[in-house]
Amino acid sequence: MKSILFLCISLLLSFQKDPFERKREEMVSQTIEKNGVTDKAVLKSMRAVKRHLFVPEDIASSAYEDRPLPIGYGQTISQPFIVAYMTEVIKPKPEYNVLEIGTGSGYQAAVLAEIVKEVYTIEIIPELGNAAAARLKKLGYRNVTAKVADGYFGWPEHGPYDAIVVTAAAEFVPPPLLEQLKDGGKIVIPIGSPFMNQTLMVIEKKGKKITTRSLMPVVFVPFTREKD
Ligand code: SAH
Repeated sequence: MKSILFLCISLLLSFQKDPFERKREEMVSQTIEKNGVTDKAVLKSMRAVKRHLFVPEDIASSAYEDRPLPIGYGQTISQPFIVAYMTEVIKPKPEYNVLEIGTGSGYQAAVLAEIVKEVYTIEIIPELGNAAAARLKKLGYRNVTAKVADGYFGWPEHGPYDAIVVTAAAEFVPPPLLEQLKDGGKIVIPIGSPFMNQTLMVIEKKGKKITTRSLMPVVFVPFTREKD
């Protein structure tokens, strides 16, 4: 009798709806769509990825506010609108092979993984990189491969990439990333000084020609190097 009761309760709990579903829907419709993101695959992914599972448990209730949140080690999970916008900028397609620099919580990697074929992601802080890799594995993202390293050098073994998403602000585009980009590929990257005067840029490679375009002012944590 006891075990049947236990089974019923566990079944009921497993059928319980995601408690944050309404908040997540509001985040997508009220901020992301309202602010101009229209790519259907990106919006679908933002509706699917549970941001509350990528932030520390004690701040899970703030997970669907449109702002960055602390994830430890002085780092932040990016603002949802910016994650959606950067994903839209690369015009993601199902067959894409994408490199991300700055795994952080793994949220941006998950948003990409819902859309593209393969995501490779690099984090310089071992504790964050290892935690994100475990989280992504637990959530079932089989198409994300993570490593701990200085992302400045990219990940040539899995390149060339259709797109590269950099989620920390650099003074300039690391040349190895340009080398690992496919012809016709795009890099989206915040360029500027730590915590100030940063601009989100999109860099396109067409043959020997490199074009750059400024998108909007942003604030990202700094791109650091191993020696820092
Ligand atoms: N994309 C992340 C955002 C994390 S903030 C998310 O969705 O949560 C940016 C991250 O970039 C930080 O975790 C920081 O440690 C990392 N980072 C900074 N410089 C780096 C480098 N040279 N190589 C790899 N990661 C770097």
